[in-house]
Amino acid sequence: MNFELTRALYPELEVAPEIGSTNDELAVRASSGSFTDFGILATLSQTSGRGRLDRSWVTPPGKGLAVSVLLSLEDLEAESVNERLGWIALAAGLAMVDAVNGVLSAAGSEPEAKIKWPNDVLIRGSKVCGLLGVLAAEGRAVVIGAGLNLTASREELPVATATSLALNGVEGDAESIADRVLVEYLAALQSGWRALSSGTPEQVEQLKAEVRANCATIGARVRVDLPGGMEVRGIATGLDETGRLQLRESAGGELREIAAGDVTHLRYE
Ligand code: ATP
Repeated sequence: MNFELTRALYPELEVAPEIGSTNDELAVRASSGSFTDFGILATLSQTSGRGRLDRSWVTPPGKGLAVSVLLSLEDLEAESVNERLGWIALAAGLAMVDAVNGVLSAAGSEPEAKIKWPNDVLIRGSKVCGLLGVLAAEGRAVVIGAGLNLTASREELPVATATSLALNGVEGDAESIADRVLVEYLAALQSGWRALSSGTPEQVEQLKAEVRANCATIGARVRVDLPGGMEVRGIATGLDETGRLQLRESAGGELREIAAGDVTHLRYE
C-alpha cells in the first residue's frame, strides 16, 4: 500500500496489511521502550478494534481506516497534564472534522462533519469516525486512535447510526480516500498537539475555541448515561477548562460537569 500523499509528509508512516488493533500495537511498543513521538501506524483491515469500555469497533476488511498516533507526554509540564489530557481526543476529533470536511468539500458534498463529545465524529448525526485515547508507557505517552468508515455500504456497517465517506458522496477506492484524509488529519493533529503540548495559553485557548465551535453536542438536548447506571438529561451548554461537558438539567438550574458518559443527542433519536 502506497499512501503517497501521506508518506511525502510523514515518511515514518507504517501501514500494516492487517492488524488486531493499531492502538494496542502502539501501546505495547511504547511500553517496551520503542518510543517514537508522533509514530504513526495505520491499516485498512483492523480485525479487533476497540471503543470505550471495551466496546468493539467493527469494519469490513479493506473498507475502513484505523490509524493510531503516539504522543509523548514527557515534555508536558506536570501542572498542565490534567487540564490538557482531556483535550487530546477532542483535538483529534477536530483534526478529523477538518480532514473529513476537506474530502466532503472536494467531492461536492456539504462539509457537515462535527465532533460529538467526547470521542466521535458525525456527519449529519451519523457516526463516521470513533476516536479513542489510551495512556501508554506508564503514563509517559498517549496513543490516540481513530477508526474511520471509508467505503462501507449501509448494509456493511455494524450499526444503524453509522455512516461512511462513500455514503456521503466521496468517490474512489478505500486507499486513495484514506490517503487524502490521513494527510490532512495528521497535519491538523500535529498542529493541535503542538498547541496543547507546548503552545502559549493563547494558542491553547484558540484550539479549545475551535473544538467548541465544531462540537455538535454543545447546544443540543442530550441524555447522558453515566458510568454506574444513572442517567441525566438537559441542554449541553459548553466544555469546561479540562474538556468536561457542561450540562444544564433545567432552565435556570445549576451547571453540572460530566467527565465521562454516553451521550445521546436527543434531536437525533
Ligand atoms: P456512542 O457513539 O454510541 O456514544 P461511544 O462513543 O462510546 O459510543 P465507542 O465506544 O468509542 O463509542 O465505539 C464503539 C461503539 O461504536 C460500538 O458500541 C458501536 O455502537 C459503534 N460502532 C462500532 N463499529 C462502528 C463503525 N464501524 N461505525 C460506526 N459506529 C460503530
